[in-house]
Amino acid sequence: MAVLITGGCGYIGSHTVVELKNAGFDIVVLDNFYNSKPEALRRVRELVKGDFPFYECDIRDAEGLRRIFKENSIEVVIHFAGLKAVGESVTIPLEYFENNVGGTVTLCKAMSEAGCKKMVFSSSATVYGMNNPSPLKEDMPVGAVTNPYGRTKYFIEEILGDLCKSDSEWTAVCLRYFNPIGAHQSGTIGEDPNGIPNNLMPYISQVAIGKLDKLPVFGNDYDTHDGTGVRDYIHVVDLALGHLRALEYALEHTGWEAINLGTGTGYSVLDLINAFEKANGVRVPHYFTSRREGDVAVCYSDPSKAERLLGWKAARGIEEMCRDTWRWQSKNPRGYE
Ligand code: NAD
Ligand code: UDP
Repeated sequence: MAVLITGGCGYIGSHTVVELKNAGFDIVVLDNFYNSKPEALRRVRELVKGDFPFYECDIRDAEGLRRIFKENSIEVVIHFAGLKAVGESVTIPLEYFENNVGGTVTLCKAMSEAGCKKMVFSSSATVYGMNNPSPLKEDMPVGAVTNPYGRTKYFIEEILGDLCKSDSEWTAVCLRYFNPIGAHQSGTIGEDPNGIPNNLMPYISQVAIGKLDKLPVFGNDYDTHDGTGVRDYIHVVDLALGHLRALEYALEHTGWEAINLGTGTGYSVLDLINAFEKANGVRVPHYFTSRREGDVAVCYSDPSKAERLLGWKAARGIEEMCRDTWRWQSKNPRGYE
C-alpha cells in the first residue's frame, strides 16, 4: 500500500517526501514541474538513499492519473499540487480555478474510480480571511477570502466536504498551513522561488546574500507591537512531520476534518529580520513602504486541535528556521539551477 504525493517536487512536497520515506512509507510521487525542477527530485532521492516511482504528470490529466492508480496500489493521497502565487491569481484567476479546483476534482474522480478515498489536502490559513481575530481556530467562519488563490483553497475544502457527505467511505483532512519557512537541515533542499520572491523569508535570504538590494517592509503602522505585520512562521520540516501524523489519522478515520498546522506564536516582520541577522551574523537592509493590499495585521494559529487529534506539535524555533534557511540559501545561491 502506497502514498501518492502530488506536487512532491515542490517546496513543502519535497520535504514531506523525505520524511515519509525516512519513516518507511512506500511512496509514489507526481509533479508536472510547473513550479519545480527535476534537480529537486534528484536531491530528494539522494537524501533518502532510495528510489521510488515518479510520474511527470498533470493532475488535470485524467488518463495519466488512471495509469498511476493502475500501476500502483495507492491507499491515500497527499495533495500538494497547485498554483500558489496570490498576486498572480488576481491577474489570471481562471488558470488558478482550472488548475487548483479543476485539477482537484479530476484527481478525486480518479481516486474514487480506483477505490482510493483518502486525501490529505494542502489548505491554507488564508481561508480564515480578513474578519477573524487571532489565534485562529478551525471552527471560525471561513470563506471571506481576499483573492482568487484563497478562494480556490476555500472551494476545494467545501468540495471535499460535499464529497465526504456523499460517500461515507471518503476521508479528507484539510491542513491549514500558516507560514512555512526554513529548509532541510542538510541544506540540499529548500524553497526556490522563480524571479523576485513574493514571500518574506525568501526575500530576506536573497537580500542577505546580496541578490536583492533591500527588503521592502509592507507597512509599519499596523496595530502590532512594532507596527509591522505578524505571522505564524513554521519550520517546513515540522510541517512535513505534521503530514505524517495526518496520514496516520486519515488511515484510521473517515469524514472531513480541517486542522491548523502552525506554532501558535506570532512574529512581526521586524522580529523575523532581527532573528535572521542574529542567527546568521548577516545584515538585512530594509526600508518601510506602504501596506500590501489584502494583508491582515495579525495572523497566527491556535494549534491545539492538531495536538489533540494528531498528537503533533511544532518543535523547531525561530532561530532554527533562520539558520536552516540561510544554510540552504548560502549553499545554493542560485537555488536548484
Ligand atoms: P510549490 O509551488 O513549491 O509546490 C507545488 C508543486 O505542485 C510544484 O512542484 C508544481 O510544479 C506542482 N504542480 C502545480 N500544478 C500542478 C499540476 N496541475 N499537476 C501536477 N503538479 C502541479 O508550492 P509549496 O509551497 O510546496 O506548496 C504546496 C501546497 O501547499 C500548495 O497547494 C500551496 O497552495 C499550499 N500552501 C503553501 C503555502 C506556502 O506558503 N508555501 C501556504 C499555505 C498553503
Ligand atoms: N512582507 C514584507 N515584505 C515582503 C514580503 C512580505 O513586509 O517583501 C510582509 C507581509 O506584509 C506580511 C509578512 O511579511 O506581513 C508575511 O508575508 P508573506 O507574503 O510571506 O506571507 P502571507 O502574507 O501570505 O502571510
